[in-house]
Amino acid sequence: MKTIKINEFTYLKKSKIHNNGIFALKPIPKETKIIEYTGELISTEEGTRRCELSQAKHKKNPKNGSIYVMTIDKKHDLDGDTPTNYAKYMNHSCETNCEYIQEGKRVFIQSTKNIKKDEELTLNYNFAWNEEDYFEHPCKCGSKNCIGYILDKDDWPKLKKHLEKINKIFKKQ
Ligand SMILES: [Zn+2]
Repeated sequence: MKTIKINEFTYLKKSKIHNNGIFALKPIPKETKIIEYTGELISTEEGTRRCELSQAKHKKNPKNGSIYVMTIDKKHDLDGDTPTNYAKYMNHSCETNCEYIQEGKRVFIQSTKNIKKDEELTLNYNFAWNEEDYFEHPCKCGSKNCIGYILDKDDWPKLKKHLEKINKIFKKQ
């Protein structure tokens, strides 16, 4: 299988979760700063505009319209949709081994556990709960505790409540 080395810690390879993923080139200890999430620093307004554009594309074809925009502060977003931002290939999982950390206006990806060589590196994309479109972002991480959708862990109770409500409606019919 074709792999591309990214930096001293990581390489890019086809993933079982989704398209390409980032994997450990060697064992990575907990709390290692692995890679920078680089991109274009833009205004919050521009970030919102780009997100809406991507969402519209995603509605037409779920293969398109990936969103790489993240919030930096009240005035700035970072759009990671650039050819040199390899960190954007990191997949979402419900059971992660990495997290985003922010230093000033820069974003890095750091390990939250000891990671074995050739293990896939995963993050939570921290999508906020939205009853209107959560189902457009299914999760295929394959972890034991997968919640089924790409969603911020803090919002999992909201999803569970919503799904219970739906189940009740189906039982009544
Ligand atoms: Zn999952």
